Amino acid sequence: MKSEIELKKTSDSPFEIPEKILAIWGRSILASGWTSVPNELLRNQSKLGLSNTELVLVIHLISFLHNADARVFPSIKHLSERMSQDRRTIQRTLAKLVEQDILRVKVRSTGKQDKGLTNIYDLTPLMLKLINLQLPSLKIPIEQHTCPLCGKTAMTREEIEKQFGFRLDKGKERTQSWCRSCRGRK
Ligand SMILES: [Zn+2]
Repeated sequence: MKSEIELKKTSDSPFEIPEKILAIWGRSILASGWTSVPNELLRNQSKLGLSNTELVLVIHLISFLHNADARVFPSIKHLSERMSQDRRTIQRTLAKLVEQDILRVKVRSTGKQDKGLTNIYDLTPLMLKLINLQLPSLKIPIEQHTCPLCGKTAMTREEIEKQFGFRLDKGKERTQSWCRSCRGRK
C-alpha cells in the first residue's frame, strides 16, 4: 500500500521541483519541466556578442540539456516551430553560433540512410567562455581583446581576426581597438 502511494507521488511529479522555483511559478506551469539559465549568460549577452535571436536559440538549446554532458540534439524542425522561424534561418543562426565559438556541431547524418538523425549541439565552448569571463586568471586562450565601445570580446586569435582585424603599426601587427561592426558604424 505504502509503495503504491509513493509510486503515485512520483508519477504525479516526474521532475523533482526545487521549492524556490515551485514557489515562484507554481506546479502547473512547471509540469512540463523548466530550464535553468545561469545569470552569467544573460548578464554577458553583449560581451559574448550574442544577438537577441542568437541568445533565444541558445536558451532553447539549453532547455534540452538534461544531463551534465552539455550535448543536446533537438531537430531543426522542432527549433523552427518553437521560434516560428523557417529552418534556414535557424540553420544560419546555428552556423553563426559555431562561428562565434559558442557551440560545436557534430553532424550525425552522413548519408541518405541516416536522414532521421539530428545533429548534436555541444555547449561546452559557451561554458568555457562563461568561466573565462568570471575567472580571467584561468583564461584558457592566451589572446583576448575587448571592444571598448560595445564590450564585445574575442577569445582566440581566429576570433580576433574575424571580429576585430589587425593593423600594422611601425612594422608591428596590432589588434584593431574597435570591433569591425563599431568601426563600420562610425
Ligand atoms: Zn564594438
